[in-house]
This record gives sequence, structure tokens and C-alpha cells, in this order.
Amino acid sequence: MDCLFCKIINREIPADIVYEDDEVLAFKDIDPQAPTHMLVIPKRHIATLNDIEERDLSLVGRLPQTAAKLAKEQGFADEGYRVVMNCNENGGQTVYHIHMHLMGGRRFTWPAG
Ligand code: 5GP
Ligand code: ZN
Repeated sequence: MDCLFCKIINREIPADIVYEDDEVLAFKDIDPQAPTHMLVIPKRHIATLNDIEERDLSLVGRLPQTAAKLAKEQGFADEGYRVVMNCNENGGQTVYHIHMHLMGGRRFTWPAG
């Protein structure tokens, strides 16, 4: 499959991997928008938020769970952080394999741009 993040999962493209288990992978974003910026992805290919099916629900739940675990490990869980999932063109999605951005280490504004 011609998917950048599937290639990272399959080690066909290198990435700075920070966490992996049977269901999810987390790695550093190549273009960080915060002092800490990681992406948490399911190992099963799901193109967009619109494509999540009933059978994916527990897997998708692992994304925020893993993000929170990493935030705690990296020491910014209590001060706070931002998680984002972009969907399709208006949402700013550029890689069509769902991913949760985990950003920490600075204050974020709201509403998002
Ligand atoms: P999106 O815009 O789809 O929400 O987020 C895609 C993210 O993937 C962007 O933040 C971008 O910097 C990151 N990204 C794109 N290509 C690569 C890559 O080859 N390696 C890594 N580690 N991140 C990437
Ligand atoms: Zn994929």
C-alpha cells in the first residue's frame, strides 16, 4: 500500500519511534510545531476519521490513551498539552492514515487556526 505511515510501521521509511506495541506506533513529527511533537497512529490502516468503523473503536481509543501515557512520561501531562486529529482538506490533513498529533512544551491558543 502506498501509504507513508504504513511504510514507517513496516520500517520501509525511517522514523524516530518513541513507542510501539501490537496496536499503535508513536514517533516524532518530522516538522515539529512545539518543543515536543509526536504522532500516534494505529497500525491498522484507516485513511481518515470518516473511515472509522465499529470494529475500530477500541483501537482508536488507544490513540488518546497512548498520547496521555507519553505526555506523562515526557513530564508535561500536568502542565497540559494539545492533541489534534485533522480530517480531509479543510481540516488540513496531509497524510491519509489517521494520526493523533501530541504537542507539548508550550502554551497553545484557541481557537485553532
Ligand atoms: P496532517 O497534516 O496530516 O495532520 O499531519 C501529518 C504530519 O506528518 C505533519 O505534521 C508532518 O510534519 C508529518 N510528516 C509528514 N511526513 C513525515 C515523515 O516522513 N516522517 C515523520 N516523522 N513525519 C512526517
Ligand atoms: Zn497507512
